[in-house]
Amino acid sequence: MIEISNVSKTFHQRTGGSFTALDNVSLTINKGEFVSLLGPSGCGKSTLLNLVAGLEQAEQGSITVNGKPCKGPGPDRVVVFQEHALFPWLTVLDNVAFGLKQKGIAKKEREALAMEQIKSVHLSKFADRYPHELSGGMKQRAAIARALAMDPEILLMDEPFAALDEQTRLILHQDLEEIWMRTRKTILFITHNIREAVVLSDRVLVMSTRPGKIKKEFAVQAARPRDISDSVLHHVES
Ligand code: ATP
Ligand code: MG
Repeated sequence: MIEISNVSKTFHQRTGGSFTALDNVSLTINKGEFVSLLGPSGCGKSTLLNLVAGLEQAEQGSITVNGKPCKGPGPDRVVVFQEHALFPWLTVLDNVAFGLKQKGIAKKEREALAMEQIKSVHLSKFADRYPHELSGGMKQRAAIARALAMDPEILLMDEPFAALDEQTRLILHQDLEEIWMRTRKTILFITHNIREAVVLSDRVLVMSTRPGKIKKEFAVQAARPRDISDSVLHHVES
């Protein structure tokens, strides 16, 4: 369970100015829940995700995972970014197995574990390819496999499908849905695509800017997706 309590984040510029990106945000995400975060550019979505990831620190409030403060990055929370960030000099297999090597798992075992995840994102035939030999969708699949290989409790996804064409995006929705049904990982998913948020998640949160706050939330199962999409659209600022 992720508990965000009264979190504020101000960035201080070298020039002396400061900018409050998040203002007193509180949010609880239950274990196994799939939560989407929507809102205009600059409203603080990535900042909130980075705080949960432990990549940034809040100066006010607290963020805990299962009661433990997120003081820095940890193996229980893995981030998938819009840019896949695969190592270009490693094959898909070696990219996915990379984190397992850091964990000290022996070569044969880590390759078997990595192949299992590569299979789960339908990339088995491409395991020995390098990132530049893959399409955008395949690279993002490899990045998801790499995150899953670490077996984190929480997947933090910052616009993971934003750079993909509509058709590839829809296929990856199916993949992610399948992964979530199978693993029941806790997922915090940032997107600008309202339909994507409504189709994939249990709960959709809409943030507003100046200063960043969560202004509205929608439980998706409570109503028909079409109705929800219309209500969400009404609350997302242009
Ligand atoms: P987008 O949809 O464009 O990705 P976002 O909602 O993810 O936007 P954030 O990246 O969280 O927005 O940024 C929120 C605000 O905080 C922005 O005004 C941004 O300029 C500012 N900000 C983010 N990171 C930093 C930083 N490291 N230093 C200074 N300001 C920052
Ligand atoms: Mg962002």
